[in-house]
Amino acid sequence: MQPYASVALFHGAGRPFELRQQKISQPHPDDVLVQVSLATICGSDLHTVTGRRTAPTPCVLGHEAVGRIAAAPPNTRDAYGQPLREGARVTWSIMAACGHCEYCQARNLPQKCEKLFKYGHARSEAPYLLNGGFAAYICLRPGTAIYPIPDAISDVEATPLNCALATVLGGLELMGDKAGGCAVVQGAGMLGIYAACCLRERGYEIIAAVDRVPERLRMAEAFGATHTFNLSDHSADEIGEALRDLTHGRGAELAVEVSGAGDALVNSLDWLGVGGSCLTLGFVFPHADVTVDAHKIVTKCLTVRGNHNYHPSALGTALRFVEATRNRYPFGELIGAIYPLKEINAAFDRAMQGDSIRIAIAPEKAQFDGVA
Ligand SMILES: [Zn+2]
Ligand SMILES: [Zn+2]
Repeated sequence: MQPYASVALFHGAGRPFELRQQKISQPHPDDVLVQVSLATICGSDLHTVTGRRTAPTPCVLGHEAVGRIAAAPPNTRDAYGQPLREGARVTWSIMAACGHCEYCQARNLPQKCEKLFKYGHARSEAPYLLNGGFAAYICLRPGTAIYPIPDAISDVEATPLNCALATVLGGLELMGDKAGGCAVVQGAGMLGIYAACCLRERGYEIIAAVDRVPERLRMAEAFGATHTFNLSDHSADEIGEALRDLTHGRGAELAVEVSGAGDALVNSLDWLGVGGSCLTLGFVFPHADVTVDAHKIVTKCLTVRGNHNYHPSALGTALRFVEATRNRYPFGELIGAIYPLKEINAAFDRAMQGDSIRIAIAPEKAQFDGVA
């Protein structure tokens, strides 16, 4: 193994990434070193580089990633309790949790652990310099759920799972099933597209995707959306009427908000029928102030439920979901282009254009040439 790893350091909004060589180390005897194969730029990375939310600097961003075990201490186990082998392809929970605190134990919310550590969101400082995915190596701390990637799933298919798909599946698990019903997905970016196929597989008959970007809506259709509405072409009232027409006048049973747009929450309460539920996942930046008509929550007996991060078991669910459904949905097409680490600034510029669902960064780009 090399003694140094290339890392891309984030120094604050509006400043370019700096490429630097950092010493590879395992500060804790139970740390696991992973050589990063591929990392994708998540919407929250974009929030950070644009200053919509802050990160301690310098910081190695990137939390959607996959790689190969480079060094694992003896007796370290994966999330299924199996020994970790060097060279194994793995993905991991975006956070490490202590396993002992009130949130980890009594409340079953390890994603909100009192000692939570979140990859791609922490200051890069000694002894932990390799905390994020936009680097050749990442150091995984004890309390991280590490999952083997099934052979059938490619790195391109697997990379966004440990943030986007696990978040969606973890959220949907909280909502229970209403098979045969109508669900509306607000926002057809990565989470919304994943939500479409998850809802399809959960038995929803009508899955309506709402966005302003036609390409995203087309992708949502490829992932199981039965109806799409472009908010640039239809008013919220028109969409609400169309949803009521599709549901014998009742309205949707479930709304999944993944856009982070204030109107999406307002519209969800409008479009839901009596007894409906809204899962909101998109407001991952502070001061997302929204004015809603709370009268609708009361009189329609609505449930509004938020979720942040995910229970680590949702990542295992995500891997099994893609393994089982990869022949039905084009998971491999969600990454529009792959850039080498040294071109990370160009990669972020491209991601900012918003014409691709995901842009990826491969520290060892050569192995992916020809993919995108
Ligand atoms: Zn993310
Ligand atoms: Zn804890």
